[in-house]
Amino acid sequence: MNGLEKLSKLSAKPEMQKIWEIQENKKKLNSCSFHEFKLNSDRQFNNLYICQNCKGTVTEKLWYEQGIAHAQKKEVLHGKKA
Ligand SMILES: [Zn+2]
Repeated sequence: MNGLEKLSKLSAKPEMQKIWEIQENKKKLNSCSFHEFKLNSDRQFNNLYICQNCKGTVTEKLWYEQGIAHAQKKEVLHGKKA
């Protein structure tokens, strides 16, 4: 096994992949100037929203906990403009 094979085997580990995805998602969300979240209807549970601008994803839970900035969600939820 050469170095590259070793590396690809390591990054293929589910937990490594998960950590990497979370980091990438954070970067996307942080660099986006205006989130436009749309519900990902493919998922039945744990609603997942995808930003149409940065392609970053948030869950309902994450949204409330982190208070994701410059998103339209509040207006959508409460049915009124801020
Ligand atoms: Zn965004």
